Amino acid sequence: MKTYNVSESKFAESKKYLSGGVSSSLRASMKPVPIFAESASGTQIRDVDGNEYIDYMLAYGPLILGHSHPVLMQRIVESMQVGFTYGIQHEGEIELARLLTEVLPAAEQVAFSGSGTEAVMLALRLAKAYTGKRKVVRFHGHYHGWSDSIFTSFPSSDMSQKPLFEHESDVPPGTAGQSEGSLQDVLLLPWNEPELLEQVLRTHHQDIAAVITEPIMCNSGCIMPLPGYLENMRKWTKALGIVLIFDEVITGFRLSNGGAHGKFGIIPDLVTVGKALGGGIAISAVGGSRSIMELVESAKVSHLGTLNGNRVSTTAAITTIRELSKNNGHLYQQMEATAGKLAEGIRSLFRKHDIPGLVNQPGPMFHVMFTELTEVNHFDHFQKRDADAYTRFAELLMEEGVLVRPNGLWYVSAVHSDREVDETLKAIDRVLEQLPNHER
Ligand code: PMP
Repeated sequence: MKTYNVSESKFAESKKYLSGGVSSSLRASMKPVPIFAESASGTQIRDVDGNEYIDYMLAYGPLILGHSHPVLMQRIVESMQVGFTYGIQHEGEIELARLLTEVLPAAEQVAFSGSGTEAVMLALRLAKAYTGKRKVVRFHGHYHGWSDSIFTSFPSSDMSQKPLFEHESDVPPGTAGQSEGSLQDVLLLPWNEPELLEQVLRTHHQDIAAVITEPIMCNSGCIMPLPGYLENMRKWTKALGIVLIFDEVITGFRLSNGGAHGKFGIIPDLVTVGKALGGGIAISAVGGSRSIMELVESAKVSHLGTLNGNRVSTTAAITTIRELSKNNGHLYQQMEATAGKLAEGIRSLFRKHDIPGLVNQPGPMFHVMFTELTEVNHFDHFQKRDADAYTRFAELLMEEGVLVRPNGLWYVSAVHSDREVDETLKAIDRVLEQLPNHER
């Protein structure tokens, strides 16, 4: 039986000084307590109680090379020795920018920032400035960061049935304190419904600046686009003068070096990347067609940030991309195989224990759901999963030394081994045995 006494007391102490006790709201949902890390290396993370875990949370995605990858660490230390950040230009910015234009098919030019949220803010601003229009189409169940102009809550399943675009008050705000009217330009639609999208775009195109989408709905079930859906989205937006933005903050450098758009061969006007790009160091980027990106150059669109393009973050990104690109990207095949083995193993354990469940696995990440459905390819299906059972499952897995997010999304790194997959599957086997009947 693991104990979390030290984490518990640190959480209580933290709450005295740190608002909420955690640094990002989502982290507070970890059961039985938001644990405190002591150290981490490779796939292993150790908490302050001395418990060790195989880590499939990977800091919510960035650690594609695992914790403290030796090459990455070495390069970062070297870069720090010549100065962390300058506030003036340095060659690393050119090198990374050039590299991104080589690996991301959508990027003729790029701009750097520090987080996915900021990259999305810039992409939306560029789209509005470029088109001279205001409205933005986004989709239920997608997440594009927490800035006021795009942050909405996930609607309940009955609400997600109807397209919400007539009135600003129809779009559910993401948080208290969001400025009134900040979502007035957002049209919120169900995803994977081509007819509805076409109808809305054709009817409102004179007001619509951009469509922003995750190319795979990673934030809600790792749901793949229906065949032809993104292709049509591309076709309609192009024909109607609407900027198409792929938010690849999760899929960029995770699915492939060219992100999902490179893999699918669908080229959006703008793409946002973050998370895996920096391998665990804060950096994000917007890439896109020269005609849109040059709005930054002509200073029509402001793009700012004290630490943008700093030496440490550009070094981390260059090194991460180079590591991932070695041997024709064989690490992607390896990660996909590791994730595939794990996903298939979990499916067969669901069958063995007669537990209705599903795993959607589009690449080196997957979503595990407790659900009676045989297919989850729409946000409504995703909303029908038994989220509480999964939270309990995640808690029991921690007991077994496996760390996963409480919401079902698993990440696999380049350093997860077959041996760890086997160990993980044995742990899952024991946990499914223990899950109370009513949670099965
Ligand atoms: N876009 C997507 C698709 C994301 O998944 C996230 C983060 N989960 C963001 C944007 C925001 O990124 P960040 O947390 O770095 O601000």
